[in-house]
Amino acid sequence: MITVEQAQTLCLDLVPTNRSETVSLERALGRTLVEPVKANRDQPPFSASAMDGYAVLEGDAVQNSTLKLVGEAAAGHGWDGELAAGQTVRTFTGAPVPRGVQRVIIQENVSVNGDQITLSEPIGSNLNIRPQGADFTKEFQLSAPRCLTPADLALLAAMNHPTVHVACPPKVALISTGDELLMPGGNPNPDQIIASNVFALHAMLLETGAEPHIFPIAKDTAEDLDAVLRDAENWGADIVVTIGGASVGDHDLVAPALDRFGVTRSFHKIAMRPGKPLMAGSKGPTIFLGLPGNPVSAVVCGHLFLLPIVRRALGQTDVLPIGVTAQLNAPLPAGGPRAHYMRARFEETTTARRVTAFDKQDSSMLTVLADANCLLLRPIDDGPKEDGDAVTIFPI
Ligand code: AMP
Ligand code: MG
Repeated sequence: MITVEQAQTLCLDLVPTNRSETVSLERALGRTLVEPVKANRDQPPFSASAMDGYAVLEGDAVQNSTLKLVGEAAAGHGWDGELAAGQTVRTFTGAPVPRGVQRVIIQENVSVNGDQITLSEPIGSNLNIRPQGADFTKEFQLSAPRCLTPADLALLAAMNHPTVHVACPPKVALISTGDELLMPGGNPNPDQIIASNVFALHAMLLETGAEPHIFPIAKDTAEDLDAVLRDAENWGADIVVTIGGASVGDHDLVAPALDRFGVTRSFHKIAMRPGKPLMAGSKGPTIFLGLPGNPVSAVVCGHLFLLPIVRRALGQTDVLPIGVTAQLNAPLPAGGPRAHYMRARFEETTTARRVTAFDKQDSSMLTVLADANCLLLRPIDDGPKEDGDAVTIFPI
């Protein structure tokens, strides 16, 4: 059996070069920029006044000198004259400063008498001018790949780009399989359960920027599985996720269905708990991921394998879950031959990060998963751990 890390690499190898699209800035939040964007203009495009005040020539910037007011410059309306010695121009914030001017005296520091402006206070060192190109010059580039933040969108707007080129969100088909399953809100027979994990996966995919769609539940029959795989293909899925039926029991029909469908298998089964029967493969550019059906297994595999695939498809570079170190609150017995991703809860203070693994680790228990805020990793054949020992956790 391959390790989690090997399986993650194989999964990411399946991701084709991302497709991109052009979207308006209003729709670009959280999207990944796929190519650098050049400014092509200076910002500010002219030396601009940073304050409301009076533009003066440097030789006139002397306390108690009186200057003659000869014009006004406001934002969007510059003053086109040539300032002579002994003259000043009323200059408002954002206005281009008149040619030759290197200083704006703030209005609080002058006394006004008709058109006679006296620089009544000490001049000080502040020029109150934003030089041309102080924010960015026309050579500036916003680098890619980059997940666009609200501030990035303002920056792109200031660069005069109304649209950006971003990675397309991958379309993810979510297919629950199992004769026992019913959608929430239905009337279950005594031997039926509700399809649940698919809603966690749907939410995780939305949060990550994918376009997920929940398909009707497939029964444990070859016909049903073949039909739903065709439906997912016709929908244009970039990633097809099956849930359940991934082991090798008599009712585990997903692997043969994927074979029939023409999927080239990358791997089946990994040295991990929960989630051993995970499988992955591809058919052309489409990725297929077969998740185990147990709710916790499906969600844990979603964090470790599905979301990294989505992030890579979105053009992101750091796509794997980021582990951090925490100190155990209680001892743990030795681990086993498979890496164990235990459900756990961590708390952080300014000086420490401490974690407690839950007693119940059954991979069907959603109440435990709902209480967890991290997965605590026990590597393969990990030795016993004492209270206070360091472990790796993955916040979820
Ligand atoms: P399987 O992988 O199909 O053998 O399923 C393992 C366990 O997970 C069984 O108890 C199933 O009933 C349960 N299961 C399978 N699919 C789902 C699902 N979509 N939601 C909740 N439980 C499921
Ligand atoms: Mg099943």
